[in-house]
Amino acid sequence: MRVRNTAASIVFVSALTAAACATNPATGKKQISLMSEEQEIALGRQSDPEIRREMGVYDDPQLQQYVSAIGMKLARASERPNLPWQFTVVDSPAVNAFALPGGYIYITRGILPFLDDEAQLAGVLGHEIGHVTARHAAQQYTSQTGAGIGLALLSIFVPEARPYQGIAEQAAGLLFLKYGRDDELQADGLGVRYASHSGWTPSGVQGMLTTLTRLDKASGSTKGVPNWLSTHPAPADRVQKVDAAVREALTTTPASSLATNRDAFLQRIDGVTYGDSPSEGVMRGHTFLHRDLRFAMSFPENWDVHNTKAQVVAKAPDSEEYLLLQLVEQPQGSLQQVAQASMASAGWQQLSGQRASVNGLDAYVGTYQGTVQGLGSVATLAAHIVHDRRVFVLAGLSPTSMFRRAEDEFERTIQSFRPLSAAEAENIRPNRVDLYTVRPNDTWASIAERAGDGTIKPATLAIMNDHDPNEPPRPGDRLKIVVEGR
Ligand SMILES: [Zn+2]
Repeated sequence: MRVRNTAASIVFVSALTAAACATNPATGKKQISLMSEEQEIALGRQSDPEIRREMGVYDDPQLQQYVSAIGMKLARASERPNLPWQFTVVDSPAVNAFALPGGYIYITRGILPFLDDEAQLAGVLGHEIGHVTARHAAQQYTSQTGAGIGLALLSIFVPEARPYQGIAEQAAGLLFLKYGRDDELQADGLGVRYASHSGWTPSGVQGMLTTLTRLDKASGSTKGVPNWLSTHPAPADRVQKVDAAVREALTTTPASSLATNRDAFLQRIDGVTYGDSPSEGVMRGHTFLHRDLRFAMSFPENWDVHNTKAQVVAKAPDSEEYLLLQLVEQPQGSLQQVAQASMASAGWQQLSGQRASVNGLDAYVGTYQGTVQGLGSVATLAAHIVHDRRVFVLAGLSPTSMFRRAEDEFERTIQSFRPLSAAEAENIRPNRVDLYTVRPNDTWASIAERAGDGTIKPATLAIMNDHDPNEPPRPGDRLKIVVEGR
């Protein structure tokens, strides 16, 4: 969870005045476009500050420069070298990359550890450049407008209506979820072309597609982090489909003149933040610690904890019991009034309630009942806790029939909420990427264990290093691993 700046909304007000027939520079075909190049650029320029503000720019100028240099080299080899290209690493743990019309390309810090060399990074950037040069987003505006849906839809962003997503993710979702299979294949092909024309081996595109496909397969165990494949639908044969383009590129440019630059790439991403950052809260064991909001709390052991921008949600391993933590927006009145108003507005009916103290903090603890889709009649024990002039709500909920059994655990969890001192807060460090050379008899599990308990799953470690989880690591290989923040 994180502190929101302001309720920002992305408003696409680009004027769609005249339709024009233009030649698609990437495909060479004539197509109707309602958007001129100036309008594409205006749209990108307008949305860029929102994305930067909402997702945050990853604070590593050298890394930014490195990614930007690679992106610029690829963009110059494209059919639209003169767009105002801009490449930004955003501060998100999700594995993702996306583009805005006009040449604004973003990759998350979260995708970097999953790329194995510079050629794969060039593959991702080249693919996104391809969406821009082939005007896939611009075309979408055209077809949506043509279908009568209208751009107005894209300006309706109500942050509170979508608690699980940040605004930028919504924007990206709305803009990019709809890339069709043909657009994806075309972007893959263009990525291959730009990479090989700029000196990287085009098989980097296949490598990154293979890794992202493995990640998608394992996503049952990666807790639904929004990933690149959710915005880039991947037919199973995409890796194979791009093979022809790769082989063709290799006939015109000999493989020996193309680079992967693995060592340079590994050096650049050594130390990059992995997973949640302290400013949004991190899990250590089963304790959740938040640097900026200065608190800690412990979830029951073995619960599955999911930290999103708006809230932290945890679920019991084998039953429909949930814990939920979030901030109350603009609390007004006494604590009791705040608690009752916020629960009532969420549809809960109060059964009991009283003032209480949670580790010295003022609190109002009540029981409520309501109905939740999929669960039926539900009871909840909710504590509204005042800390640092904010009101947190920490609630345990379960089907009414199970509530008696769950209540003690909810109460214990509420009582674990405690403020952190400035020194404690400053000491929360993010997990980071580190480099490691495989020793004889190492397994993915043994390497994962070195990182610290539960920091990374063995299968994730394998996928991150361009391996299928069933393939063992090779002694002597240089790997990316994840080490616990200290
Ligand atoms: Zn794509």
